[in-house]
Amino acid sequence: MAFESLTDKLQNVFKNLRGKGRLTEEDVKTALKEVKMALLEADVNFRVVKQFVKSVEARAIGADVMNGLNPGQMVIKIVNEEMTALMGSETTEIAMQPGKSTTVIMMCGLQGAGKTTTAAKLAGKFKLKGKKPLLVACDIYRPAAIEQLEINAKKQNVDAFSMGTKNKPLDIAKAGMEHAQKNGNNVVIIDTAGRLHIDEEMMQELQEIKENITVHQTLLVVDAMTGQDAVNVAKEFDEKVGVDGVILSKMDGDTRGGAALSIKAVTGKPILYVGMGEKLSDLEQFYPDRMAGRILGMGDVLSLIDKAQANMNIDADKEKEMASRMKKGKFDFEDYLESMKQMRNMGGLSSILSMMPGIGGKSAEIESMVDEKQLAHMEAIVLSMTPAERRNPKLLNPSRKHRIARGAGVDISIVNRFIKQFEQSQKMMKQLPGMMGGFGGKKGKF
Ligand code: GDP
Repeated sequence: MAFESLTDKLQNVFKNLRGKGRLTEEDVKTALKEVKMALLEADVNFRVVKQFVKSVEARAIGADVMNGLNPGQMVIKIVNEEMTALMGSETTEIAMQPGKSTTVIMMCGLQGAGKTTTAAKLAGKFKLKGKKPLLVACDIYRPAAIEQLEINAKKQNVDAFSMGTKNKPLDIAKAGMEHAQKNGNNVVIIDTAGRLHIDEEMMQELQEIKENITVHQTLLVVDAMTGQDAVNVAKEFDEKVGVDGVILSKMDGDTRGGAALSIKAVTGKPILYVGMGEKLSDLEQFYPDRMAGRILGMGDVLSLIDKAQANMNIDADKEKEMASRMKKGKFDFEDYLESMKQMRNMGGLSSILSMMPGIGGKSAEIESMVDEKQLAHMEAIVLSMTPAERRNPKLLNPSRKHRIARGAGVDISIVNRFIKQFEQSQKMMKQLPGMMGGFGGKKGKF
């Protein structure tokens, strides 16, 4: 889980501060020394850490802390604000060309960073915004990349253009531009070739494309798992090719946090998106404040809500109906299946829990809360029911329950226990109408 160790360490520092009624200069200095160690261990750039700690210290020892607020909370607030500033403060959108003009985006990065995947993920985002993107396959050195781009384009239901591996990347890019014009594509995403390491030839290829084609946005994909290396790569690409924004891939992995926290400060270039998995929907806009919240273990409920809204493919009426059924305790097994589907669309229960305040980043705790095997059993049980049984659980007599147990491949006792629990939660929902009041109501309320 991303940032696990950094979050743990920072939370420990803050726990010690919380216990204190008043903070002395000494307290703040000791705490910040630990924050500094934690950040360095998380592979944050040394100069960035030094500057960061200096800024926090200046504010924490200054007047801010003297105004009677809980001093521990005050330090957390300052760390949170400075961390947000470090990552760029504001969310940066990909700058699009005005009106009907075509926006040309060039993807670059080292091999394996996630360029091809991210290009397709981005194309999906543009499509959702009503654009007509074209993916252009210029990675001629990794033959599988062309096929991968085409397959992903199909999955995203967007256009792709390729000319095999025999032509020069610049010629493919030029032909791709012509194709886009004929085909009415208003966003062109050029997937270029990476190399295992920074390499002159790669840089020249990219420069050549930029010199001969009007590229509006050069986006660099770096692998968050590589920490400081990602930052160095970003610096080098920016110096040689010029980068407008960075996409940090593989943030779903066990990254320590160094890349996310250092890139903007070292290169001056904003992080635009973060890759959160291999699926083509796993690309999230980057919000510095939310990311700081995640790192500090405050959870990221706002991103969770975004995720929920993006994945809610049930229409508003259906959502309302489901909420009203829940209030009346009429939530049945069809609704249960629908909820399971939604949850999976959102990346599963573990991913949802990791965004909750107080849990974020602690994989061991999440594992102990989520028994994926049990969830799979429950789903198999519901899927073994007939639609009539799902709508009317009262039909479930012993012989039907035995049939369901056989169908789901589980013991009858598991079926009995699950149905009993389900009935109990139905009763609970009836008794707690107040609790369900906000669900499915106005937007923004959860
Ligand atoms: P390229 O060489 O830069 O084009 O890299 P690819 O797009 O082929 O990606 C390399 C590998 O990283 C593939 O297996 C991708 O599925 C995987 N990948 C890309 N982005 C992410 C991400 O955000 N999370 C995870 N877990 N894997 C990713």
